[in-house]
Amino acid sequence: MDDALHLQVAAVACGLAPGVLGATGPATQLVLQGCRIGCPGCTSLHTHAAMGGRQMTVAVLLQLMHRLHGQGQLARLTLTGGEPTEQAPALERLLASFTQAFPQTEVVLYSGRSWRALQRHFAPLVAHCDVVVAGPFVSDRPPTPMAGSDNQTVHLLTPRAERLYRDWQRWPMHRVQLSVTPVPDGMQQMLMVGIPQRQVAQVMNGPKACTAAAVATSTKSP
Ligand code: SF4
Repeated sequence: MDDALHLQVAAVACGLAPGVLGATGPATQLVLQGCRIGCPGCTSLHTHAAMGGRQMTVAVLLQLMHRLHGQGQLARLTLTGGEPTEQAPALERLLASFTQAFPQTEVVLYSGRSWRALQRHFAPLVAHCDVVVAGPFVSDRPPTPMAGSDNQTVHLLTPRAERLYRDWQRWPMHRVQLSVTPVPDGMQQMLMVGIPQRQVAQVMNGPKACTAAAVATSTKSP
């Protein structure tokens, strides 16, 4: 079944430190392509097109996760976008297999949908997560250590999340990190991940202080 299901992926960022969109590290962030929410001021316009990025089957993504786990890169899996719920069926399938294979790995989901909408329409997806950060990005609201704007709500859903995140509101602000990730053509993709200071995000017009994540540029370097 995994061979038939696929996800449209904007990027995979590896080697992220604790505090970069989650408590543990080294972590991996899966940036999902496609978003129709349209928050004014969004600086991740490159993730909006549904067919942008690249298509990866659930099976291939699981293989990648096994490889990253073997390399010690998978203390946490963070899911951002774009808007992850726009690919909910395949993402659910990925997370069902993922949480079975890696029960020690923390799973963090960022969504531009409200917590109420997530509970009502995406409960099976939410059930696989330790932490959900919910709500649209509002550009004139200040960021928090876990979100691009302070209207976004942080939900700790497991005992592990309660333990790891109980003091998230006292975490440093604007933790960002560069991630260098291999891509299929032998090149490397450099990403900035985290919640950058608003001025930096505006200048770069790529990093996002979004729902979630600040995924930046898709700069390729030899
Ligand atoms: S901030 Fe996030 S949820 Fe909002 S439009 Fe941008 S990518 Fe979509």
